[in-house]
Amino acid sequence: MHRRTFLKATGAATVGVTAVGAASAAPDRERYRPGGPALGQPNAINLNAFHTNAQLTAALESIARQSGRVSLRERGRSAGRNDPIWEVQVGGGDVDVHLVTQIHGDEAIGTEAALKLIRRLGLSDSRQVDHILENLSFTIIPRVNPDGAMYRYDVDGDGGKERVGRRYNTQAWTADQSRYRPYYHYDPDGQAPGYDMNRDFNVRPPSEFDPRTDDDAAWWADEQYLDMPYEGHTLFGSGLRLAPEVRAVTESFMETNPDYAITHHHKGGSLYPGSDEGKRPTKQTLMSVMAAYGPEYLDRSPFYPADHAPVSEAVNPFLDAETSARSIKLNSLVIEALAERGDSVFDSITRYGYFPLWGSYLDGLCPNVANGGDGVAGMLYEVAYQTDDLGQKAFGRQLELTTVGFLESFAALADDPALGEYSVEPYFETPLYGQGIQPR
Ligand SMILES: [Zn+2]
Repeated sequence: MHRRTFLKATGAATVGVTAVGAASAAPDRERYRPGGPALGQPNAINLNAFHTNAQLTAALESIARQSGRVSLRERGRSAGRNDPIWEVQVGGGDVDVHLVTQIHGDEAIGTEAALKLIRRLGLSDSRQVDHILENLSFTIIPRVNPDGAMYRYDVDGDGGKERVGRRYNTQAWTADQSRYRPYYHYDPDGQAPGYDMNRDFNVRPPSEFDPRTDDDAAWWADEQYLDMPYEGHTLFGSGLRLAPEVRAVTESFMETNPDYAITHHHKGGSLYPGSDEGKRPTKQTLMSVMAAYGPEYLDRSPFYPADHAPVSEAVNPFLDAETSARSIKLNSLVIEALAERGDSVFDSITRYGYFPLWGSYLDGLCPNVANGGDGVAGMLYEVAYQTDDLGQKAFGRQLELTTVGFLESFAALADDPALGEYSVEPYFETPLYGQGIQPR
């Protein structure tokens, strides 16, 4: 075992910080930190252009009213604001896709893209949409973090509170929730406390694990980092499922029992590898993808062998060969579908070097323990946040392109739901994101 060198998660206030993390490519415990200097998301931008929770509700209800094929369900309520967490279902195909966006409240583009997607799938009569809905069924949670999405903070010190959003929900930790306050709970001076919810998932379903009654001393012994023993592995940084939003997403996932799981995040900007070699203008990578995979691809993991790290720190040992290949091919499909568009927005896709993050949606849920370990192929994608640089018009165009690009990806998945025509190679041939791992 290598020694842990990471800092305790008592980081300074992060709202308003624009630093882009320059994390090294080597795996280290810093990656698990819920915030602090390596936050990675430029925020402190004006979120007034994005749907408020009330506007999102109104928009979803309007689509559901107009469409005969969209169903809308309140899956739960946020911890702080008690705002609804909506789940949308559309499509009648045999292949189930679970899609969640804005689990980090300062990452709003996913919700806007999901809403456009829902509107298109719900209201369009195009042949493309018909084809998608005949083959795929979608369960979409378009805003996992209503508290963070609406978070207000006095960024500029003028005494007013600007809507800037933040990564965390709004929730105090109390001693009746769990034995210790977990490392991903954030309680800064002058701000409401809350959880980084993409650290709060757990691979064991609720019927097998309850943090109020679980008394396995071995993994509670490290109160900060929660090394959960499971099936012969140690799952470093497991979550306790303390946020009601995370419990809602977990229930949605368990009931859907999906074939594919997709989650959207924002990333800091980064140059496309090699694009600064005398070329002007240099090219930024605007989108990065990541596939979750298991031991069959261990030798292709950028983080293995690393210091004799356990397998569970380089790949997800609960994803079998078929699921792993399908997950990687799903990423290949998106890379190819978007590259074919030829838009400059999409010809600079990079990938993250995959490592498991045991409290995350992707790694906590894709093993699908609740449904007998019927593995789910997963993809994470992140887009660069450029609203403040590009302005609203350019943002609107980028959002439209993203929506169209994803419709084309889903059309390709509808053509070939088992991904038999795809290979893992385009994924592995895609350049690694230059600055290493960003928080997700
Ligand atoms: Zn994120």
